[in-house]
Amino acid sequence: MIQFDRVSKRYPNGKDALSKVSFTLPAGQLTFLTGHSGAGKSTLLKLIMMIERPTQGQVFVDNQNLNGFGNRHIPLLRRKIGMVHQNHQLLFDRSVFENVALPLIIAGYSRADIGKRVRAALDKVGLLEKENLNPIMLSGGEQQRVGIARAVVNKPPLLLADEPTGNLDPALSEEIMDLFQDFARVGVAVLIATHDLSLIARYNHRLLTLREGRLIHDGDEGEMHGS
Ligand code: ADP
Ligand code: ADP
Repeated sequence: MIQFDRVSKRYPNGKDALSKVSFTLPAGQLTFLTGHSGAGKSTLLKLIMMIERPTQGQVFVDNQNLNGFGNRHIPLLRRKIGMVHQNHQLLFDRSVFENVALPLIIAGYSRADIGKRVRAALDKVGLLEKENLNPIMLSGGEQQRVGIARAVVNKPPLLLADEPTGNLDPALSEEIMDLFQDFARVGVAVLIATHDLSLIARYNHRLLTLREGRLIHDGDEGEMHGS
């Protein structure tokens, strides 16, 4: 689903944020991406989203080389990608339903389709009965689930999450992880950027570790800690 082939990113100020990073993420796999602040996690996600472009190397999404994509391809690319943010970036001047519907409205779906898909997504995250509330009325964990429903409402094959459990306690983090695992089980490639090592340690998923822009580890969590 995603392939990085010797990808380097140097920002205009000369900062090397990524150096010759290579890995492949297949469909149906959940992968953690970790590393200290400044290691290059956000840059890696931005290359997948085409918010930034690589200086060297190639990024493939769904077997398509993004180097061959112009700006007019970006909307089509982003339709394949669901993005979950730490602060979930919900709009507090509209309902839960309207927040989740946003990507479908932008993509030009019909009203009937929007209603059906939004309710299916809210059902998946267990929030169907809250569709008419303003998200400000919801708990932090519920708000994050609204953010996840919005990310998956158009059934993207790829789900990216940037510190999705950053503001949540362990029990709520587990709920969110259960959802991500459900999506992986039905074939979605899920990439979770986090520096929450206790979260990573609780699951036995593939782990990519960046240090100063280099991929220093690619394997399961047990390998890394020698257990
Ligand atoms: P992380 O998400 O792991 O904290 P980032 O990808 O945000 O890491 O940053 C990697 C490195 O690149 C850091 O040193 C950061 O300061 C630098 N960086 C990130 N964005 C830019 C930018 N737009 N211009 C210059 N340097 C940047
Ligand atoms: P995040 O945690 O999302 O990476 P940051 O605070 O690191 O947020 O960065 C916020 C914005 O500033 C991002 O768009 C990032 O690319 C940019 N940025 C980060 N570091 C630098 C830097 N050293 N110089 C210029 N821009 C940077």
